[in-house]
Amino acid sequence: MAGGDGAMAMTPHVLIVAGSDSSGGAGIARDVVTVSAFGLRSCLAITAVTVQTHDTVEQIEHMPPELVAAQMRTAFAANQVAAVKIGMLGTAAAIEAVGSVLASSPKVPVVLDPVLVSTSGRLLLEENAIDVLRRDLMPVCRLVTPNLIELATLTGSALAPDEERARLQGEKLSKTLGTAVLVKGGHGRGSKSVDFLLQPDCPAIQFEAPRLRQGMRGTGCMLSSAITASLALGISLEESVGAGKQFIFDALARSATT
Ligand code: PLP
Repeated sequence: MAGGDGAMAMTPHVLIVAGSDSSGGAGIARDVVTVSAFGLRSCLAITAVTVQTHDTVEQIEHMPPELVAAQMRTAFAANQVAAVKIGMLGTAAAIEAVGSVLASSPKVPVVLDPVLVSTSGRLLLEENAIDVLRRDLMPVCRLVTPNLIELATLTGSALAPDEERARLQGEKLSKTLGTAVLVKGGHGRGSKSVDFLLQPDCPAIQFEAPRLRQGMRGTGCMLSSAITASLALGISLEESVGAGKQFIFDALARSATT
């Protein structure tokens, strides 16, 4: 068929700005599958190519910032982008490139998963870039989704030892950024996995799910992608977080039986 797939371009897309993980356990592979599960299409801006197994990160190649920006600009020009999910960014230069494209693009909800360190302990964002992320990119996002370790780094605090202190750190980050923060309790220890949605000038909203024993890589990527897809469908932030949480719970429960 001549002329490309014009009808497809007009279906709502989620623009995924993230790194690839060659093991398939995390990163863009997880994001695309998640967005598809919500009946939406993805377009991509790859920020980094990583060589990984499920146990180690062997190599990281950052894409040039202008290549990241070009992928984003083309995605916005060619598709109806209804929301943006941001994962691994890697460098301060990539953060600046992403911020500048977002500033000149249609205003759609942006969800940022602050990917700082892999479970195996490898830095996935250069240390000097954390301030840039907090200052330049997080305030323009609709939602930021740190786990407890990322939350401690972003607030300059010790790891929250309980839910109450995790909520307080999340409130502090949300007020500083002037945007919503979802504190993910997946790394906590209680019998329930408790997440808090904190928004400036709103009471905290608590989400609970039974804590499942099995772990799975890439759940942070999947949760932020599921929330982004839900927002792209025009669903409220609170309901989108609920839908995302349910999606992860179902994926974990399925992984226990397969
Ligand atoms: N690699 C990439 C490209 C990622 O985006 C992420 C997390 O978002 C990771 C690795 C870390 O995943 P995990 O903590 O499951 O190892």
